[in-house]
Amino acid sequence: MQEYGKKNPKADLAGMGLHVSVAHWNLSSEALTQKTIELGQGVLNDSGALCVNTGKFTGRSPKDKFTVKDAITEKSVDWGDVNIPFSPEAFDKLYDKVCAYFSGKEVWVRDSYACADPEYRLNIRVINEIPWANLFCRDLFLRPTDAEIETQEPDWLILQAPGFLADPATDGTRQGNFTIVNFTRKVILIGGSAYTGEIKKGIFGVLNFLLPHNHKVLSMHCSANEGRDGDVALFFGLSGTGKTTLSADPERALIGDDEHGWADGSVFNFEGGCYAKCIDLSAEKEPQIFNAIRPGALLENITFIEGTNQVNYKDASITENTRAAYPIYHIENAKEPSYGKDPKNIFFLTCDAFGILPPISKLTKEQAMYHFISGYTAKVAGTEVGVTEPQTTFSACFGRVFLPLHPIRYAELLGKKLEEHPEVNVWLINTGWSGGVYGTGKRISLKYTRSIITAAMNGKLSGINYAPHPVFGILIPESCPEVPSEILDPRNTWSDKEAYDKKAQELAALFVKNFEKYASQANDEILSAAPKVMANAD
Ligand code: ATP
Ligand code: MN
Repeated sequence: MQEYGKKNPKADLAGMGLHVSVAHWNLSSEALTQKTIELGQGVLNDSGALCVNTGKFTGRSPKDKFTVKDAITEKSVDWGDVNIPFSPEAFDKLYDKVCAYFSGKEVWVRDSYACADPEYRLNIRVINEIPWANLFCRDLFLRPTDAEIETQEPDWLILQAPGFLADPATDGTRQGNFTIVNFTRKVILIGGSAYTGEIKKGIFGVLNFLLPHNHKVLSMHCSANEGRDGDVALFFGLSGTGKTTLSADPERALIGDDEHGWADGSVFNFEGGCYAKCIDLSAEKEPQIFNAIRPGALLENITFIEGTNQVNYKDASITENTRAAYPIYHIENAKEPSYGKDPKNIFFLTCDAFGILPPISKLTKEQAMYHFISGYTAKVAGTEVGVTEPQTTFSACFGRVFLPLHPIRYAELLGKKLEEHPEVNVWLINTGWSGGVYGTGKRISLKYTRSIITAAMNGKLSGINYAPHPVFGILIPESCPEVPSEILDPRNTWSDKEAYDKKAQELAALFVKNFEKYASQANDEILSAAPKVMANAD
């Protein structure tokens, strides 16, 4: 076996059952970019970022994500269609098969870690079949120093073999591709998919188990940034609601764009980089993200304007989910190390395609718990012709698919935090529709949303009047700097007020129905924060 690059002299791939021909250890971004181009797997765009296609999979495949059911997980994991069990024996066999598949191949190895707070550091070793996936790991996970690399032992191992397909008949998978997490062996096994989000969210799932379960630390699907006074803001939200976009703020230091932990006195990033959506990206609207796409960054599934290597960010012909991965230091005012103090403001982002929820509202502690457990957003139908109805989604804790434990476990931790920190403001932000439902109204401008959250963070929304929403009870401010007052109450923005009231009832009924499954575990105060559905609503 030939080995290149910097490594811990004790690290031994053959001892792990991996008899590869060449191992490239911890190569630089430049070397990985160069290798990818040489192999014909990618090209550079005009700003020097490496552009690749992830192949058949351009998103995660939740139905093919499994967790090994063993002594550690059996009684703690919330088994069901989110956490699908896999047998330890089948895992061992598949692990050996993947190792055999790597035999004689060239591999790219990366030593990295998760959790910026040293107290919770989790060392990760990733073995990739393709160099650009290794670049992704370099960009997204935290980067140990050269000295650390020489001594670091991995806590967790990720084997990523996009070219390996399982045989569902004998391997116990649903189809050829799979992501399987094994807490006893501390391994994530990925096969059949080159979509890099499987790696990123694989580790997120692991931390969502370990931190709350072993350390009583709340793990969160949120972005975080910090003001000049050290005040921390969290932005929770499901995919596409604005976590990455809104946390990139020239006035505030970025802590992280997607995954964080909240321990006593510390909000810390799990990651060392960002993974931003690129659809419709522009230098004018999102300069920080646009400028982060430079040498060392990875662009996935974009296309070029014909005859150039200039990215056509409008093109969703490969997927809506075009993405840019870059290390956090590509954002000018990133905070390193990426952690701060207990938060002062918490924003729940929802992209409400019904146009019912106000652009900003203040939540009581009980309402905060209710909305956290509900995790409401709407997916819009995208570009399909004739599809106008938005798809309502409730995803507990704004990240149900990433949670190994029952959602109530996370909600309890948040509830405890909010009790310990009564000074924390919790806001619900609608980054979605205004003036009517999807198709009639339009999406609230990013400019207004930014002004709204800036006002909230700078204390400009305290000492003013608020009025409760008639159905949701959440408090709507009567004014906000740099935002027209008439848009703050969503009912004003609808030309047909009765249609608004009817739609609000419809949405309230969806909330109540969704909450039924949690009702037995929620106390009366939380239940009292539910929207009011009129008895005769149809
Ligand atoms: P993921 O979990 O998939 O990473 P995310 O929450 O980070 O998702 P973003 O990547 O920030 O979501 O995507 C939000 C998208 O919505 C961006 O493309 C942004 O330009 C667009 N957008 C349009 N209007 C708004 C608005 N008012 N507020 C926030 N985002 C908006
Ligand atoms: Mn994001």
